[in-house]
Amino acid sequence: MQRILIVGGGVGGLALANRLSARLGRKRKAEIALVDHSPMHVWKPMLHEFAAGTAEPSDRGINFPVQARRRGFRFIPGTLTSIDRVSNSIEVALPRSSAQHGNVRRFEFDRLVLAIGGRANDFGTPGAKEHCLLVDDLKSALALNDALRAEILERAFSNEDIRIAIVGGGATGVELAAEIRKLIAIGSSYGIDHLESLLKVTLIEANERILKAFDEVSAKRVEDKLRSLGVRIECERRVTEVDAAGFVFSDGRRIDAALKVWAAGVAAPPALKTLDGVELNRSGQALVDEHLRVQGTLHIFAMGDCCSFMPRGEDFPLPATGQVASQQATFLATALAAALDGRALPAFEYEDRGGLVSLGMYGGFGSLPNKGFVPEILISGRWARFIHPLFFRAHMFQMLGFWRGALSWLRDTITAWLHPGIRF
Ligand SMILES: Cc1cc2nc3c(=O)[nH]c(=O)nc-3n(C[C@H](O)[C@H](O)[C@H](O)COP(=O)(O)OP(=O)(O)OC[C@H]3O[C@@H](n4cnc5c(N)ncnc54)[C@H](O)[C@@H]3O)c2cc1C
Repeated sequence: MQRILIVGGGVGGLALANRLSARLGRKRKAEIALVDHSPMHVWKPMLHEFAAGTAEPSDRGINFPVQARRRGFRFIPGTLTSIDRVSNSIEVALPRSSAQHGNVRRFEFDRLVLAIGGRANDFGTPGAKEHCLLVDDLKSALALNDALRAEILERAFSNEDIRIAIVGGGATGVELAAEIRKLIAIGSSYGIDHLESLLKVTLIEANERILKAFDEVSAKRVEDKLRSLGVRIECERRVTEVDAAGFVFSDGRRIDAALKVWAAGVAAPPALKTLDGVELNRSGQALVDEHLRVQGTLHIFAMGDCCSFMPRGEDFPLPATGQVASQQATFLATALAAALDGRALPAFEYEDRGGLVSLGMYGGFGSLPNKGFVPEILISGRWARFIHPLFFRAHMFQMLGFWRGALSWLRDTITAWLHPGIRF
């Protein structure tokens, strides 16, 4: 049997493991294995809710070993530390160990798919690593939540401003700012009624406007909404240094904040650097060809945020979004099945299905692209806030199947009635 190894069980990787298991694993055409250093899959576009404490990961996550048993793939817990394209093998450091401690295992493959996602990119800004919190994965989102709750409690009882500054006016920074506002609104409803007046959130963006990846009209509506919620937006501000008190800009001005969050840029995890003789871009992402094969390799594929795919005739690579990762997972399930049957690899074609930024209970804003005779449609308003949760539900139905997906929805609805809506 062919061995297909997928590293990273996120938005793209877990969808691919499920599809390949159904397509090849159950027919015993291939052995599918998934490696991930986290014990639980979480839908990354929801991380800002875990960071704000308005959603619980234990309710929303999918346990990898359980999913593997149900879908018929093998789960290998651990961190990818190196890739050898000559011997077609990878090294994985087992949980609670490190490469230095020697607790590393080698796994051979016939096909490897890298789906290890991305993280924020501080572009080497001095002080960023030491002083900034992140929303990169579940661990960092929960660390941010711990710091946030401690800060809120301390300031609320001493009646001081809660100063939070977020670098990055992309979807992550924008959605986090709105979710923190929601946390404070719910917190106020539990009796600390002066909380809202203490919150001072600043969103810092290097470009001339926030949400550069979205259409201008939606970005403007989001900006207006955030301002109406009291969020200060500072565009064309390049951070040159971070210290314990706040952010320093290129023009010498500064913004002080007790909680500093870095949510700008995309960088691929360092494990890709071990791929000898393979070109990576400035963000450390692997360059892939039209089959999503890592350039310069034969049997190694990459998808989602850890790769850079340039569509034919375009000037810019595809953005790092869940939509891209999902479409690439669907494509690779078909492409790898074709490869195993000895057929030619198809070429990946991306279809832009629009974008949506969710401001949680404050609404959603986005657009559906123009298609043939149908012009571009702008989506906005309070009802649009239900679309983002529907994406999450669609993802859960796909991962868990119809009945488990429906039951988990019912359980979450009941939990929402019984629980306070924020983590105390
Ligand atoms: C707060 C937030 C909001 C967002 N909102 C949206 C949105 O509204 N719409 C949208 O389209 N996109 C959104 N995104 C972006 C979207 O989440 C990502 O583009 C998408 O998750 C990328 O999928 P992926 O499969 O490439 O990686 P991920 O989903 O990040 O998964 C990577 C997986 O790899 C594992 N991993 C990483 N390194 C290693 C290693 N060395 N060894 C083993 N395992 C490893 C991780 O544990 C993880 O399970 C948002 C992101 C954030 C943070």
